[in-house]
Amino acid sequence: MSPSHDRRLYVPHPENWAIKTKASFDREYCHAKFPGDEHYHLLVGGELHLDNGEQKYCLDCALRLEMLTADRMYWQKGRAANVLPPPDNET
Ligand SMILES: [Zn+2]
Repeated sequence: MSPSHDRRLYVPHPENWAIKTKASFDREYCHAKFPGDEHYHLLVGGELHLDNGEQKYCLDCALRLEMLTADRMYWQKGRAANVLPPPDNET
C-alpha cells in the first residue's frame, strides 16, 4: 500500500491523550481555532477527537498543531520542538 493510501495516524506525544468518539450531540467545542477564525469548532456526535480529560481537539486542529501526524516515521525525523522535549544528551 502506498503512503498516500495509508490513513493511519500517530500521536507523537501520546501521554495523557486518547482518541475518543463524541457519544452525544451536547454542545462541545474544539479547544483550538483555525488561524483567523473567530469561532471554535463544534464537535458533533460521532466525531473522533483527541481528548486529555480537560481539552478536546478536532482531528483537523490536532493535525495542524502536530498533536497528530500521518507520518509513520515521525520518530526518526527532527522532532518538532513544540511537540516533543529536546533530547537529553546533545553532544
Ligand atoms: Zn478544531
